[in-house]
Amino acid sequence: EQDVAEYRKSLAIRVSGFDVPRPIKTFEDCSFSSQLMNAIAKQAYEKPTAIQCQALPIVLSGRDIIGIAKTGSGKTAAFVLPMIVHIMDQPELQKGEGPIGVICAPTRELAHQIYLEAKKFAKSHGIRVSAVYGGMSKLDQFKELKAGCDIVVATPGRLIDMLKMKALNMSKATYLVLDEADRMFDLGFEPQVWSIVGQIRPDRQTLLFSATMPHKVEKLAREILTDPIRVTVGEVG
Ligand code: ADP
Ligand code: MG
Repeated sequence: EQDVAEYRKSLAIRVSGFDVPRPIKTFEDCSFSSQLMNAIAKQAYEKPTAIQCQALPIVLSGRDIIGIAKTGSGKTAAFVLPMIVHIMDQPELQKGEGPIGVICAPTRELAHQIYLEAKKFAKSHGIRVSAVYGGMSKLDQFKELKAGCDIVVATPGRLIDMLKMKALNMSKATYLVLDEADRMFDLGFEPQVWSIVGQIRPDRQTLLFSATMPHKVEKLAREILTDPIRVTVGEVG
């Protein structure tokens, strides 16, 4: 309605897609567990950022999303918080299964930052997070993954290496995040990204974040997302 349209406008949010959930105003509107609310409070996140206000209810409803917002807008929590909820809703993993959540990012620095952010929120629920990127021993990573994990944060190249080594079992992977998709393509990871997506069950939930939407990223989004809602914040995209 009018209220929602005005609220979106006040946050510089544009949406497209059908049945778009209304944006939230506070983290309390998300019905998060008390552990998750405590973890959010510990980060001193008083209220959700603009992208979080619109992306959180979309992702929590199980829908696919294309999120377009500039750096520093709080996209990480927009995909990590619903990922914790998603994982808690799944049956517990058996030995040799996992991950449930897969996050791909273009560089090790970014993957590491996401890893740290994910750990802050995962800890409170006993969810295991592993980081998979170059510069660390493949054997150590292989062993860590084999020991079991719920969330993997990875650069595309190293994730492919780990898949080839059968360090992960993607049969339970139902939540896929492609972060900074445009940069992954700029860095030449296009074939790896397509290959990874092809190894994850099609009934997954898929989230794609990008600062820009060049033709190649549009094509990826069109082919790998199901009825996505597009959220753009500010003067980007
Ligand atoms: P992006 O991925 O959009 O570049 P990040 O997820 O890295 O942005 O977030 C940028 C900074 O904002 C981080 O330091 C993060 O901890 C902080 N942040 C995220 N959400 C909130 C919030 N709701 N309130 C305050 N700070 C936040
Ligand atoms: Mg980011």
